[in-house]
Amino acid sequence: MLKLYNTLTRKIEEFKSLKPGKVGMYTCGPTVYDYTHIGHLRKYIGDDILKKVLRANGFEVHHVMNITDVGHLTSDEDSGDDKMEKGAKEQNRTVWEVAKFFEDYFFKSTNAVNIERADIVCRATEHIGAQVKLIKLLEKNGLTYITPHAVYFDTTKFPKYGQLSGQKLEDKKVGSRSDVFVDKAKKHSADFALWFFTVGHFKDHTMRWSSPWGEGFPGWHIECSAMSMEYLGESFDIHTGGIDHIGIHHENEIAQSEGATGKQFVKFWVHHDFLNLDKEKMSKSKKNFLRLEDIVGKSLPAGRQGFDPLALRYLYLTGHYRSEMAFSFESLTGAQSALNNLRDEIRLWDQPKEVVAQYWQRFLEAANDDLNIPKALAVLWELVKSEIPSSDKSATLLEMDKILGLGLEEYIGKKVEVPEEVQKLIDARENARKSRDFKRSDDLRKEIKKLGYEIEDNTSGYKIRKL
Ligand code: AMP
Ligand code: ZN
Repeated sequence: MLKLYNTLTRKIEEFKSLKPGKVGMYTCGPTVYDYTHIGHLRKYIGDDILKKVLRANGFEVHHVMNITDVGHLTSDEDSGDDKMEKGAKEQNRTVWEVAKFFEDYFFKSTNAVNIERADIVCRATEHIGAQVKLIKLLEKNGLTYITPHAVYFDTTKFPKYGQLSGQKLEDKKVGSRSDVFVDKAKKHSADFALWFFTVGHFKDHTMRWSSPWGEGFPGWHIECSAMSMEYLGESFDIHTGGIDHIGIHHENEIAQSEGATGKQFVKFWVHHDFLNLDKEKMSKSKKNFLRLEDIVGKSLPAGRQGFDPLALRYLYLTGHYRSEMAFSFESLTGAQSALNNLRDEIRLWDQPKEVVAQYWQRFLEAANDDLNIPKALAVLWELVKSEIPSSDKSATLLEMDKILGLGLEEYIGKKVEVPEEVQKLIDARENARKSRDFKRSDDLRKEIKKLGYEIEDNTSGYKIRKL
């Protein structure tokens, strides 16, 4: 039985899908104005794990993720500039070029850490019609008002506003910085834009469409309501996002969707905590971020290449998704060496035969306990160290890896192939060891290392790894 923490009820609950055996899941995707960083990857790996745990429980998952390519202002509370337009200006490219470049970059990064692509990836700019339709419905239901700058959602007309974060409407503060765009005609600070007009501050906005209210572009939140309901229906099972989305973006999505349909929008809200760097959330806007290249390209002591992207995935599996994680190269080094050890072990295993229920069940139980993957990983290591036949270990491990996504299959039973000249040195070293000439054996080990292979003795002989 899968249990998940539901932000909406603030409780760990048994997961039950709306339709038997099927799960509709929506993920807020990236705003494609800058590089995907490894903090984003933690969050999308978290979604990937959730999806795979659902599958391990027999659910068929229909997963939808959006791409925000318009309407997300520098402040989530509708003040400032459009992030896309700002990014385009800074990079001297068109908004469309910026969107395409960073969307491609996003998928390059997610592919490298084995994140499975959503079944449907939908761009806000390609769903303007659905967003306009939804705004019209909200207008018909008396939930909107218009200022010279925008069409707003009137939060005071939606009594349930604040249910997700537990905030009261009266407690919402107005964003009053004077250096950025703030619409003074907004009636309540919690009200949010559904449609911005391309006038005043936004008169030069490149992305613009006609609408019943005038030319403009959609606010950020409406895209997620419109597209999730288009692909998953008016009510669906799971919506995910980072914890930063709870108070504004997701609250607004609920208001828009439930304000339009009168039905419950989402049953389970799953939120992931952050990856921090130097005690702060790793973030694009603060420019304190590391990209995948920064870790893959990192030069390491002894001429070693940088880290494997999957070491990052392994690192993320060691923390619970509802706890923040501090990034450090020390912890990544630890993850890399754990992953190397795991790969080395399984190279010696036989091809898969039987899944061992005792280990698999305990692994799944941990995963089902609000995605306690660190505990599941501990069960994996118990399996590795156990005395059961290696063919059964292989089968069980592969089942576990359907959730973990470490790409372990390609290592099972694959002894490292070494060139002839290296093999000769290895044999010579074995002979030296047998005749207890440890000085020579050590010199040969160093020579082997120079040729790009690391040799390590163990109880059953030696292990060899390509550096
Ligand atoms: P953005 O493109 O900034 O809208 O972010 C996309 C997703 O990544 C959101 O769900 C954010 O909550 C999440 N995110 C951004 N920064 C981090 C971080 N440092 N750690 C974990 N998740 C993050
Ligand atoms: Zn969203």
